[in-house]
Amino acid sequence: MLENNPNQKDSAHYLNLLEQELKNIEEALINDQQIEMPDTGDDSAENQETRDQQEEIVKNYLERKREIERAIKWTKENGSICAVCRQPIEESRRDADPASITCKAHRDEDDTIEI
Ligand SMILES: [Zn+2]
Repeated sequence: MLENNPNQKDSAHYLNLLEQELKNIEEALINDQQIEMPDTGDDSAENQETRDQQEEIVKNYLERKREIERAIKWTKENGSICAVCRQPIEESRRDADPASITCKAHRDEDDTIEI
């Protein structure tokens, strides 16, 4: 059975998910850079709004990319354990967000952890 090291199997599973998502984001970012905004010299509010929306999308991608890279690094070095208390991260929590590196009890601290 997996009782010897239940974490090992989880780690590989979540690393797969994380690496897949990272690849998707990198592709999305590349595609995004290829979209040329038509330079019509139009500084209308509408145009500005579209640019703001695009910037927001890219910002979100980059933020998520950082989270994923952090989770990959953490998981490779430590397995699927909480970065605060070092107990196994609940499966339901990681299923909901594979980039989580804290258990449910420490979810509020997840954003602030630097590794
Ligand atoms: Zn914890």
